[in-house]
Amino acid sequence: MLQQTRVDQATPYYHRFLKRFPTVKDLAKAERHDVLMAWEGLGYYSRARNLQDAAKQVIDEFDGVFPETYDGIIALKGIGPYTAAAVSSIAFGLPHAVVDGNVIRVISRLFGIRDDVGKTGTKNEIQQLADQLLDEERPGDFNQAVMELGATVCTPKNPVCMMCPVSTSCVAFRTAETDSLPYKAPKKKVPHHQIVVGVCRDDDGRMLIALRPEDKMLGGLWEFPGGKVEQGESKEQALTRELREELGVMISVGEKITEIKHAYSHFKITLNAYECRIEPDQPEPKPKASKELKWIQPEELENHPFPKANRKLTMLLLGKK
Ligand code: SF4
Repeated sequence: MLQQTRVDQATPYYHRFLKRFPTVKDLAKAERHDVLMAWEGLGYYSRARNLQDAAKQVIDEFDGVFPETYDGIIALKGIGPYTAAAVSSIAFGLPHAVVDGNVIRVISRLFGIRDDVGKTGTKNEIQQLADQLLDEERPGDFNQAVMELGATVCTPKNPVCMMCPVSTSCVAFRTAETDSLPYKAPKKKVPHHQIVVGVCRDDDGRMLIALRPEDKMLGGLWEFPGGKVEQGESKEQALTRELREELGVMISVGEKITEIKHAYSHFKITLNAYECRIEPDQPEPKPKASKELKWIQPEELENHPFPKANRKLTMLLLGKK
């Protein structure tokens, strides 16, 4: 939960999640839908899917006992070098150095590394230096101390060098480069996509929702069918095309319901939602781009996990916003 998310944001989710799935076995055998529901609002849903897959691995491959070696831990789905080093050093006292954003800042300043820290080569160099510095007797304490130093003393702006226990060995302090290190190359402009979605209703007032495929971004979550507006298309044209491609039916586009802005890590979207009707002579919609389609009554919207922008739309449809 703490990958990409602050402690204060994740804490209530953590407690609710543990109450809902108290043991690794409970999590392993839970329905995917329920795990995603418990995660809803935290974002980065691949973490929830990976966590459940890892729980299944612990049950199937490690006899239900969490692995106590670095190789065993890193073999779990969703666990990379950072988490494996943190868990193996803090929980099991194994000598693996953690490198997160705080550690990168401390080490690049301490050793005066002026290369772009976004590059793999620079990260590898920092990992090697962290490995060399690691106290093999107390790796967990060492890792937490360096992370804490970065969070409280060697802060991104105005580091408190006068209070720093390593200032006498610090290159950036000596050369007055704390403002320019760590160096990060300027980010590319984040693309912004116009997305159109259709709220198709039938004569019983039910709405059509689609389940995103597991291997796609936001996989396992429900959404209103739709897609990206291509160049030269109006939003209405894009919606007609998307629903023809995704559902295999012709629709008529009605009133615009709302416009919702949302930012993901690598792009931004504006979600334009429209009322829709499937033309009377059309066959039953088919899940051509999704895993499953479902007609549901408005009150059932709250029992299905949706990504954030779609969730805002469901709240609006339910008159709750
Ligand atoms: S002396 Fe300053 S720049 Fe260097 S590690 Fe300490 S706080 Fe960071």
